[in-house]
Amino acid sequence: MKIKSIDSIVRRAVKALEPYSTARDEYQGEIGIFLDANESPFNNGYNRYPDPHQRELKARISELKGVSAENIFLGNGSDEAIDLVFRVFCEPRIDNVVAIAPSYGMYKVAAAMNDVELREVQLGDDFSLPTDALLAATDENTKAIFLCSPNNPTGNSFPRAEMLRLIEEFEGIVVVDEAYIDFAEVESLKVEIAEHKNLVVLQTLSKAWAMAGLRVGLALADKRIVELMSQMKYPYNINIATQQIALQLLSYPIDEDLAEIKSQRQEIAEAMAAMSFVEHIYPSDANFLLVKVKDADALYNHLIQDKIIVRNRNRVKGCEGCLRISIGLHNENLKLIESLKRYEE
Ligand SMILES: *Cc1c(COP(=O)(O)O)cnc(C)c1O
Repeated sequence: MKIKSIDSIVRRAVKALEPYSTARDEYQGEIGIFLDANESPFNNGYNRYPDPHQRELKARISELKGVSAENIFLGNGSDEAIDLVFRVFCEPRIDNVVAIAPSYGMYKVAAAMNDVELREVQLGDDFSLPTDALLAATDENTKAIFLCSPNNPTGNSFPRAEMLRLIEEFEGIVVVDEAYIDFAEVESLKVEIAEHKNLVVLQTLSKAWAMAGLRVGLALADKRIVELMSQMKYPYNINIATQQIALQLLSYPIDEDLAEIKSQRQEIAEAMAAMSFVEHIYPSDANFLLVKVKDADALYNHLIQDKIIVRNRNRVKGCEGCLRISIGLHNENLKLIESLKRYEE
């Protein structure tokens, strides 16, 4: 990292912020008579405010990820962490961020919501990482670069060395969104957060861990970044039900599910490769396949007729002619393939 310190690029208002101190911050014992938070005393399991620091859940995630709890921020989905990167570092209408394209739509939405310019840099041929173009798109007001690896919707992971070069050469925050890392053969960049204080690795319980409905996203980063994001979040951003259920579901291993998704991904790719209307199946490190077909809109509509819903990416620059297909259960995937065969006839 080329910047002197994280604090040198934080928004002025954030540095000056006195975070809201919750009743539970001031007294941390577990037992006692709690008359400090104007809660109802009638116990229905949810009458108390949740732990604003999510200590138990963080301890478990720390164990699972091999990342110390002080380097973990938990958000109401990764979407909250993405929004907080803007709110902590980007001065509205002055600062800007750079992001790869095509990629996850939330970077653009969060930028717009925060009135921050987002500069998109198109991926290269075969969706390669345009490292030099990304650096060239930055200026003295660029506070963050957003990468997504494995990338949504292209499915590919970027070379580690290239991402590290960006992290080392850029004078701001580099966010690497690893929502799909558990489906990939490549290693997470999380081990680099100790060395690279400007790196924010995003992960989520929404995909591999099958908890999209609970809303838990992770930002793994230097302690100071975690501190700043925690100061800016709403105090009770992860509710009691979510903290408890996530903790419980994290005790079931997902290895078999991941192996199944990966083998199904391979099966669908092989079946589709033989179909005449399929022009290209992009290699995928994620739980979806991006497939280029002769007439994406026609195929999308055919699948809808069969009540099979995929994501039409035909109008996304760089993904013309493409559908993004999530990997489902074995019997769902069989129905998909049957429907595709009927379309071919
Ligand atoms: C699905 C997805 C997420 C997950 O977002 P949550 O808010 O954690 O559900 C994050 N990033 C990308 C690129 C995704 O595709």
